Amino acid sequence: EQWDAAVAAVRALGGDAEIQLVCHVSPDGDALGSMLGFALGLRRLGFTRVRATFPGEFRVPTPYAQLPGVAMLVPEQAAYRAPALVLVFDVAGESRLGGLAAQVAAAPVSVVLDHHASNTGFGTIQLVDPHAAATSVLAEELVTRLGVRLDAEIAECFYVALATDTGSFKFDLTTVAVHELAARLIATGLRPGDISRRIFDSRPFGAMKLTGEVLGRAVLDPAAAGGRGLVWTYATLADLARHEQPPYVLDTLIDPVRSVAEADVSVLVKQVAEGEWAVSLRSKGAVDVSRLAISQGGGGHRLAAGFTGHGEPGDLVDRVRRLLDDYLI
Ligand code: 5GP
Ligand code: MN
Ligand code: MN
Repeated sequence: EQWDAAVAAVRALGGDAEIQLVCHVSPDGDALGSMLGFALGLRRLGFTRVRATFPGEFRVPTPYAQLPGVAMLVPEQAAYRAPALVLVFDVAGESRLGGLAAQVAAAPVSVVLDHHASNTGFGTIQLVDPHAAATSVLAEELVTRLGVRLDAEIAECFYVALATDTGSFKFDLTTVAVHELAARLIATGLRPGDISRRIFDSRPFGAMKLTGEVLGRAVLDPAAAGGRGLVWTYATLADLARHEQPPYVLDTLIDPVRSVAEADVSVLVKQVAEGEWAVSLRSKGAVDVSRLAISQGGGGHRLAAGFTGHGEPGDLVDRVRRLLDDYLI
């Protein structure tokens, strides 16, 4: 059993073994929350050498910069060179690990905790459940199996991860078990209102102005996806620069787009470099956007996925529009 193998892999280590935790590039609340909560759990077990990292530019979104355990977070360049164990959080495939992919592949043992439908099965031990609402569900299960008692710091990390990946407990995978986990986390003394204000209601004024502009140029195509409808918009690096905002403020901009009643499918095309775009896809149930994204070299979940594309936003959306009928659920 994979859970027993993961527990044994941790128990086999001495207290001074180097343990590396890794999450995906451009980390979100689940990537950072599940990883840092688990890192704190390892510290509670007496492991003294624990580092957490992610590939690429070392920019932690402001809402997550105060998470407990953030002191263990280091840039990719300061990661262990040859750790005894690597644990990987919220990563669907090695392409999301950038320069850290080689290290994960070379590690004697790598435990992958993930919930993406598109997970490629990399790593030596896989704790992968596409029905899990967040990777933190799996991280909590593993720390608990290791004998860690949840405390307020660990719980805050896991709660942030759970709240962000479930859209504040409203997406399809928000089960009884998810609410029971949330209850266990809150019982450690968390204040969900404080956490929500810090995570969701602390956006700079410039982010709101930017949002207004990007939403103002949205286009609705009611005939797309066999009449279920498509709504899309795009944001450029110039938009970010004009409003002096970092790229992560676009991470949640798909949410107001997907709220449009006339469209089942929503698309946000975000510029990452000259001619290079990150395409975010959401569906309300008509289209399996995970399979569509995989066909374009990306991945994700059935109703929330993405890929990287080249060219112009309008052309990328035309490509998505043509593919929709192939991936109707
Ligand atoms: P978002 O649209 O919020 O960036 O991503 C939605 C989901 O799709 C996330 O679970 C994310 O992991 C996945 N995803 C987004 N872009 C990519 C990509 O380029 N490659 C892969 N493999 N997954 C992606
Ligand atoms: Mn994620
Ligand atoms: Mn996740």
